[in-house]
Amino acid sequence: MTLNIGVIGTGAIGRDHIRRCSKVLQGSRIVAVNDINRDNAAKVVSDLKLDAKVYDNGHDLVKAADVQAVLVTSWGPSHEEFVLAAIAAGKPVFCEKPLAVTAQGCKNIVEAEAKHGKRLVQVGFMRPYDQGYRALKQVLTSGQIGEPLMLHCAHRNPTVGEAYTTDMAITDTLIHEIDVLRWLLDDDYVSVQVVFPRKSAKAFPHLKDPQIVLFETAKGTRIDVEIFVNCQYGYDIQCEVVGETGIAKLPEPSSVQMRSGAKLSTEILTDWKDRFIDAYDVELQGFINDVLAGKLTGPSAWDGYAAAVTADACVAAQLSGEIVPVTLPPRPAFYNK
Ligand code: NAD
Repeated sequence: MTLNIGVIGTGAIGRDHIRRCSKVLQGSRIVAVNDINRDNAAKVVSDLKLDAKVYDNGHDLVKAADVQAVLVTSWGPSHEEFVLAAIAAGKPVFCEKPLAVTAQGCKNIVEAEAKHGKRLVQVGFMRPYDQGYRALKQVLTSGQIGEPLMLHCAHRNPTVGEAYTTDMAITDTLIHEIDVLRWLLDDDYVSVQVVFPRKSAKAFPHLKDPQIVLFETAKGTRIDVEIFVNCQYGYDIQCEVVGETGIAKLPEPSSVQMRSGAKLSTEILTDWKDRFIDAYDVELQGFINDVLAGKLTGPSAWDGYAAAVTADACVAAQLSGEIVPVTLPPRPAFYNK
């Protein structure tokens, strides 16, 4: 069986997902595309030689009879309305993060989905599909290092542009750790504090960089995440779990070891797109397979809501310097795995 997909938003990630679904993955074809910039959408169709119709409006695309599932890859502020439209049409929808730009927007989606009575939404958090994180989770689940007590993590980018602001360290950068660490530990956050070390002279004057985010989880695990977006040397994701009987570390991306010029070295990636490229393939193939099998299993609207509530608490903690509670209502039974 082949799943007919319509895509709203043909910018950077939209184009890339269209390429995946039409050229790389199994079981899907792109039949409809839309972008507020119509030329953008038409160009993707011609560049990739797709047999797809260009729609002037995302809502018409959602309603189109031949569209069986929707990918929402437009700008964040437009996600909520298109996801709600897909739910209203009873169509499965994969929405890039963020699910909505406010926690209330995510809650609206959770409520609409629950009312529909069946999971229809997957959020584009791809780190749970990364081979390294999966291997790390397997070690934790197997009990080889006992219960996780502490996590030391880092999210480092070489540089960011002038438009990047202090709160974006949470909403654009940490948001991936917020999601993947909940999944890794099968736990929820209860509080967060943000502290600012000495500022790097390499950061723009308006940006506080680096930052350290300190979480406590419901089970009492403590997590520190360093966010350092002007680290200069590369794109570097670290995650070390200290358990009761041992330590488990996220594997480094594979790279050739070199002996040259009296140095032993391995390369460090510099572009985030290269770090999780395989995870995007696995993530979308998972969505396609799940839709065809009739049951979604990837990151849910509830996960999108939990991430939004946590991010709001982190931003409040940045501003106050205080320990801020993360208050999430109990997960509705609807979302129990
Ligand atoms: P982009 O600016 O390159 O593309 C966004 C596109 O959406 C543009 O072509 C724009 O014209 C279109 N658009 C905006 N409003 C629209 C509307 N109402 N209807 C139809 N089209 C509309 O941005 P991007 O980098 O492709 O990011 C898109 C989304 O994907 C963002 O929410 C971003 O956070 C997310 N993203 C996620 C990851 C990830 O790692 N999971 C990576 C990159 C981007």
